[in-house]
Amino acid sequence: MAPTTDSRPWHMPTYAPVPVTFVRGAGTELWDTEGRRYLDFLCGLAVTGLGHSHPVVAEAIAVQAATLMHVSNLYGNVVAPEVAATIDRLLGGGGQVFFTNSGAEANECAIKLARKWGGRGRHVVVSAYGSFHGRTLATLHATGQPAKHETFQPLPEGFRHVPLNDLDALEGALDPSVTAVLLEPLQGEGGVWPADPDYLRGVRRLCDERGALLMMDEVQTGLGRTGRWFGFEHAGIRPDVVQLAKALGNGMPIGACWARADVAAVFEPGDHGTTYGGQPLATSAARATLAVMEAEDVPARADRAGARLAEGLAGLPGVVDVRGLGLLLGAELAEGIDAKEIAAVALDAGLVVNPITPTALRLAPPLLVGDHEIDEALAILDAVLRERAQPS
Ligand SMILES: *Cc1c(COP(=O)(O)O)cnc(C)c1O
Repeated sequence: MAPTTDSRPWHMPTYAPVPVTFVRGAGTELWDTEGRRYLDFLCGLAVTGLGHSHPVVAEAIAVQAATLMHVSNLYGNVVAPEVAATIDRLLGGGGQVFFTNSGAEANECAIKLARKWGGRGRHVVVSAYGSFHGRTLATLHATGQPAKHETFQPLPEGFRHVPLNDLDALEGALDPSVTAVLLEPLQGEGGVWPADPDYLRGVRRLCDERGALLMMDEVQTGLGRTGRWFGFEHAGIRPDVVQLAKALGNGMPIGACWARADVAAVFEPGDHGTTYGGQPLATSAARATLAVMEAEDVPARADRAGARLAEGLAGLPGVVDVRGLGLLLGAELAEGIDAKEIAAVALDAGLVVNPITPTALRLAPPLLVGDHEIDEALAILDAVLRERAQPS
């Protein structure tokens, strides 16, 4: 009984029918219901940064599940403070953390924090066109993709969008009602478009001049993915607020909102909360994930592996441009090649990649991916593209 297409008859139709159903994973490899093996160059959308079923993370979860899973935030637990301290250290210190269950919730926390920090009349959050910040009503409005807004109007007010990498446009948008600028250092869902380091330095300067917070959505880019611990490091800046999620639990749902301590200090008991956020089970996965990430120096590994992958992609037939940072790469395909079709054929051939735009593939393999796995993935893509890129 191997389901092929519509294996989810009881699920709401928010996703297209799935082409494959996975049952097991280890490192970069996945296996489906029919026992077929795949190389995972997407990582569940940049989540399983250490690869599937990492033994240290799996062991930590199993031990914690048998010890203490949940007590609520009315009481303390010994795991969450350790993880918060590690996140703060990685971000340079001087901040505090609020744990969530997802990236959207990490951004919700940042938006609420910015509103309280700004005070009445100063509540607008400026973000970029093409951005992605989540699917809740507020983070949907922060998401700079107007086509996604229409169906769900009216959305919470107080959001404004500007073109990415256009400092004049941002300057024009920063009136006294603006409390924060919210940016991804590299737009992931929007198509793998990096923010210019010069632009980010300019944004930092404008935020300082106008007294607005700079909030970096590092949900997809954070924790080594771009070849640095955080994407904003490529610009040499320091944000005031940083949102994390995806890779933080290596598959365990967990997010975090970090803020400079004097900004975080505007929150009082009752201003924000969560039932599950920061629970021992989820934070035990994050503690193990961060420990392995530090021991393996994942930013350096992503930087090196990313260079190999980018160089290989650039040499493939039908690839006209490669963009991105570290192991978050976009391969732009030649005119007439349909990214969706290429991704589907690659999947059939045993490689998971994502058609992030109609003309580009997104690749986000594990940060611990091996050279031989990169070469195997490139060989699969080469064969798939060679067929399609053939001049007819
Ligand atoms: C995935 C993503 C989110 C949303 O995270 P969820 O866990 O799906 O809520 C927010 N921001 C960015 C940059 C993302 O890539």
